[in-house]
Amino acid sequence: MKIATKYIHAGAEPDPSTGAIMTPIFQTSTYVQQAPGINKGYEYARSQNPTRKALEDAYAQIENGKFGLAFSSGVAATDAVMKLLQPGNEVICGNDMYGGTYRLFTKIYEKFGIKFHYINMQNINNIEALINNNTKLIWAETPTNPLMNIVDIAAVSNIAKKHNVSLCVDNTFASPYLQNPLNLGADIVMHSATKYLGGHSDVIQGCLVMNDVALREQLYFIQKSCGAVPGPQDCFLVLRGIKTLHVRMQRHCENGEKIAHWLRNNNKVAKVYWPGFEDAAGHTVAKNQMQGFGGMISFELKNDSVEEAKRVLSSTHLFSLAESLGGVESLINHPASMTHASIPKEERIKNGLSDSLIRLSVGIEDADDLIADLQQAIG
Ligand SMILES: *Cc1c(COP(=O)(O)O)cnc(C)c1O
Repeated sequence: MKIATKYIHAGAEPDPSTGAIMTPIFQTSTYVQQAPGINKGYEYARSQNPTRKALEDAYAQIENGKFGLAFSSGVAATDAVMKLLQPGNEVICGNDMYGGTYRLFTKIYEKFGIKFHYINMQNINNIEALINNNTKLIWAETPTNPLMNIVDIAAVSNIAKKHNVSLCVDNTFASPYLQNPLNLGADIVMHSATKYLGGHSDVIQGCLVMNDVALREQLYFIQKSCGAVPGPQDCFLVLRGIKTLHVRMQRHCENGEKIAHWLRNNNKVAKVYWPGFEDAAGHTVAKNQMQGFGGMISFELKNDSVEEAKRVLSSTHLFSLAESLGGVESLINHPASMTHASIPKEERIKNGLSDSLIRLSVGIEDADDLIADLQQAIG
C-alpha cells in the first residue's frame, strides 16, 4: 500500500457497534464485565482503551513496525525506554539532542545509577570506542535539534547489532513520512506526536514503535505499570492528524527548501543549518535515509549578538515566538533561552549551539508570505 492510502486508513476500522467511520472517543475509565474475569478484552482504561488501540495500530503501520504504544507525552515515551534499564547500565547518546531528553537523562536517570556518554554521533568511531559489557542502549536523534546534524542510522544499527546493544531513534524531526528507522535496523522508534504527527499544535503525546514481541511486552508492562497513558480525546486528535501527514509534510518540505535557500542568500545571515544543502555535512546520509529534508531550519546572524537575535525574534508577525514545532503554523524559537535553556551555557557553546542561533519550524502557509515576514524582521 502506498503512503497516502496508508496514512488515511491506518488504524481505522468502522466502529462495530454503530458503523461510525471515525474511531469514537471512548471516554471511559472502566468496562462492564459479563462475569468476574470475563470481559471483551477491555478491563480498565490505563491498560486498554479502544481509541488508544486504534492509534497504536496506526503508529505501528506508519512506522512500518509490528507494535505501537502511545504515551502521555514524547518525554513519557522516552522515560518508558529508560525503564528497560537497570542501575549500572550505560547509554551512548548524541551531544546535540532535545533539551528535555538531556534533562531526563542527567537530572533523573543519572541518580538511579545509569551512566550516559554524550558524543558526536556523526563520527561512528566515537560509538564503538565506548561500548563495554554494561552498554545496553544507543539513543540517536536525527536530524538533531537544533543543529540539524545527521546520524547514519544504518551504520549505528550495524554497530549496535554487532555488540548486542539496542538502538532507539527519536524520529520526531523527520516524521515517518521522511524516515523509517526500523527499516534501517533500529529496535525502537520514538516520536513526540505533539509535533508532526498531531500536526496542529493542539495535543501533547508520544509513542514508541517496535517489531520484537518480547520488547513490546516489556514496554507495554511499563506503560500500564507506570501509567503515563494519553487520554482518548488526545488519541482521537493524533489519529486525525495522521490522515494528513503526507500532504502536510510535502508542503513543509517545499516551504523549507525555499526558505533555507532564501536565508542562505541573505547578506545578514552568517550560516544556515538545513540538511538539504548539497554541502551540508550530513547531506549524503540524509539523502540516502530520508525522503526529503523537512521544514526545520536553524540559522545564525552575521551580527552575532543575543540582542540582535532577540530583535529578530520579536519582529516577526507570521512566525510566532514559541517552543515546539511541526504544526501547520510557522514558529520561531531561540534555543539558548527557550528549548535548550536546561542545558548549561558552557555545554551548549561546546556543542556549537551559539547564543544567536535562531530555529524555525516552517509551517504550511504560503512560502512568499513567510519569506516577506522574515525579510522585514531580519531587515
Ligand atoms: C518535543 C520533543 C520531544 C519531547 O516530546 P514532548 O511531547 O514534548 O514530551 C522529544 N524529542 C524531540 C526531538 C522533540 O522535538
